[in-house]
Amino acid sequence: MDDIDGFLRKREEEGLLRGLKPGGLRRQGGTVWFGGRACVDFSSNDYLGLSSHPRVIAAAKQALEEYGASSSASRLLSGDLEIHHRLEGKTAAFKGKEAALVFNSGYQANVGIISALCGKGDCIFSDRLNHASLVDGILLSGAAFFRFRHNDMEHLQALLGKERGKFGRALIVTETIFSMDGDEAPLKEIVRLKQKFGCDLMVDEAHATGLFGDCGGGIVEREGLEPEVDIIMGTFSKALGGFGGYAAASRRMISYFINACRAFIYSTALPPAVIAANLEAIDVVRDEPLRRAQVLSHASAFRGMLEVSGASQIVPFVVGDAAKAVRLAEALREKGHWVLAVRPPTVPHASSRLRFSVTFHHDMNTLRQVAYDLRQVGFLVDAARV
Ligand SMILES: *Cc1c(COP(=O)(O)O)cnc(C)c1O
Repeated sequence: MDDIDGFLRKREEEGLLRGLKPGGLRRQGGTVWFGGRACVDFSSNDYLGLSSHPRVIAAAKQALEEYGASSSASRLLSGDLEIHHRLEGKTAAFKGKEAALVFNSGYQANVGIISALCGKGDCIFSDRLNHASLVDGILLSGAAFFRFRHNDMEHLQALLGKERGKFGRALIVTETIFSMDGDEAPLKEIVRLKQKFGCDLMVDEAHATGLFGDCGGGIVEREGLEPEVDIIMGTFSKALGGFGGYAAASRRMISYFINACRAFIYSTALPPAVIAANLEAIDVVRDEPLRRAQVLSHASAFRGMLEVSGASQIVPFVVGDAAKAVRLAEALREKGHWVLAVRPPTVPHASSRLRFSVTFHHDMNTLRQVAYDLRQVGFLVDAARV
């Protein structure tokens, strides 16, 4: 980067310069404090409120006492503790696959898995709105990279028809619930195409895990497609309220990842307290199905209030202009609501938005209030709708 000043100036002019908050935030139990002001938190991925669940906290504390603060080595050296194996067994069962592997974050899982699975001579078909970590994994792999229009199965089929035959291994990659739009991939149709064209299928269930399916396993569980999806990836850092990523797949595939994923091999294993919290969170998801039922029903009512469509706890209110999205978020903050303005490059050009996360901490009155205030701040009329 030879022109750092120019880069920063351009970002500033476009209203896209990002910065951290001076002094940071305090966040607890659905509230965010910043500069002395308390706001209702609509920006958290802790959808089920599990990060502050007493059982999760107790489990983490106990592991901290028992094992100490660190795993002290990578898994393939001596950081391979019994508790990591317990989490992988539980994750595999939760996801309905033979085996699972824990990564140090969802980001590392995606970069590690895709770059290990594909290389030169292979091809990858990726939804245009896939998360940056998926894109980075694809770029690092060196495979031919084809992006299909968001959830557009005709486009995917056309690309497969034209390109699949020219390459060795082919991988289709999609999120199941999209992180910035909150909509759902047409998984059954993707599975049909994967079978027709002889591809592997990897899905990212970062925002579906804990919310969908009878056991909270995600969209793959709800659709009963576990045998057809080769790699189910996800993170413990969203609805599970913890930290770390994972892949669930066949035993053979997991064995390959253990040997080939550099993001897995060359990093210290997650601390035992983190692993213990994740273990307990999966049990809480199973034991307290009312949490996910409430979040999804509240989210559906909230979408009705904003007159936006969608399918999940992520409710996007598309504004278009980046500076306007920021102003709108600031105006809502003045009224006590903490909502994120999401701008390019996180979302496509001219689709800046407010991204509301509906969580277990919100009751209907809270949601009605923010919908009312959004209208009051006067932008509802001219904002584009999703
Ligand atoms: C958050 C997220 C990730 C990354 O997970 P981390 O554990 O936060 O690194 C990957 N994919 C998607 C779709 C995400 O939203």
